[in-house]
Amino acid sequence: VSRSADVVVVGGGAIGCAVAYYTARRGLRVTLLDQARRGRATSASAGGLWPVGESVGLGCGVIVHKARHAAGRAPDAPTALPPHFVAFARRSNAMFPGLAAELFEATGIDVEWERTSLLFLLFDDGDESFARSLRARGPVGAEMPAWLDADELARAEPAVSRRARGALRFEGDDQVNPYRLADALRAAACKLGATFLSRAEATGLEVRDGRVVAVATPAGRITCDMVVNAAGAWAAKLGRLAGLELPVRPVRGQIVGTEPLPKLLSACLSTADCYLLQKGHGEVLVGSTTEEAGFEVGVTPQALHALAVGAVRAVPGLESVQVKRAWSGLRPGTPDELPILGPVAGLDGYLNACGHFRTGIVNAPLTGAVVAELAAGVAPSFPIGPFLASRFGGASS
Ligand SMILES: Cc1cc2nc3c(=O)[nH]c(=O)nc-3n(C[C@H](O)[C@H](O)[C@H](O)COP(=O)(O)OP(=O)(O)OC[C@H]3O[C@@H](n4cnc5c(N)ncnc54)[C@H](O)[C@@H]3O)c2cc1C
Repeated sequence: VSRSADVVVVGGGAIGCAVAYYTARRGLRVTLLDQARRGRATSASAGGLWPVGESVGLGCGVIVHKARHAAGRAPDAPTALPPHFVAFARRSNAMFPGLAAELFEATGIDVEWERTSLLFLLFDDGDESFARSLRARGPVGAEMPAWLDADELARAEPAVSRRARGALRFEGDDQVNPYRLADALRAAACKLGATFLSRAEATGLEVRDGRVVAVATPAGRITCDMVVNAAGAWAAKLGRLAGLELPVRPVRGQIVGTEPLPKLLSACLSTADCYLLQKGHGEVLVGSTTEEAGFEVGVTPQALHALAVGAVRAVPGLESVQVKRAWSGLRPGTPDELPILGPVAGLDGYLNACGHFRTGIVNAPLTGAVVAELAAGVAPSFPIGPFLASRFGGASS
């Protein structure tokens, strides 16, 4: 089969679907290729939209930090991400209400965007001193996180353990259903004329005179003006097909999901042991580990045990509920934990949209919009300089 497109997007996770949607909205002819692999991050994700929480080291950051600190291998507090990341993530997060409405209108799919806020629960002196240091830094973005004392926390979240001394509340850090987000973006892109090829692996990138001119698949080649690398944890492998060395590696995260429960939590919760979110259908998700396990996808008794203990410590009522399933996914990790976006020197017809690590769901809308602008030859509406692959040096060969 021989086909052609203006833009071929490789990878049908949240990022590739967002790129396809915003590119199709610009009137370009888009083909989205996806060869679903075990461990794809979007299907594993919790769907937390925590631009501020993630930036200051909550979510998985504080869990990893606790383990490293206990092993004497970490400074006093989790590392914070730089201001340009916070600005990008906040802008992307702010797109959700409008995007959710737009996608529902176009596809009838409800992405379950929900205003929840994020609470960092304080159980011991370590949590309190971290919370104090967070407040001492001043507002990240617009607002100072509010400090809830034990009684205020108990009123706001009756299911949380009374052993919690209080909490920090991050307004604006919310949640979405990540599978539905990807499904809705893809469906909306197709409505706008994009072609979606499932079970279609990009096996080659044809480069002629320093420009990608076609993408090879087992079913034939697709000629194009631009290819977008949205291959998640497999982005380095795809880049290599065009002679690029991208420092993207798989970072495994395990999650436990309960049976559907009556409404238990209003906010998303972050502790030094785990994070908890109750999704639209009632399932409580408890995440997550941060592991260097290569492309190994599986769950381990130790990790599931640690997550379960942490969850029950935070929300004692979870002790008696059934676990419905546990799974893991591969985050597209980068050395500085920031995404890799945009063009690379010396290779035309190619754009990165990869390396989103822990925040590819919250950062999907703005990534999609900005990469679509670049594909259309329009100046990006958000400066992507700090996210270029060239920051690592020697990104192309
Ligand atoms: C346990 C866990 C919890 C998380 N929680 C959150 C959260 O709460 N909030 C948040 O913002 N982020 C979260 N993340 C991170 C987020 O899930 C990822 O950053 C995001 O999903 C990355 O999306 P992606 O589209 O780049 O990758 P993926 O979803 O992995 O999609 C990449 C796709 O490309 C396909 N592919 C690869 N190579 C090829 C090829 N050659 N040809 C065709 N197809 C190919 C793959 O099969 C896959 O389908 C979490 C991740 C994990 C693992």
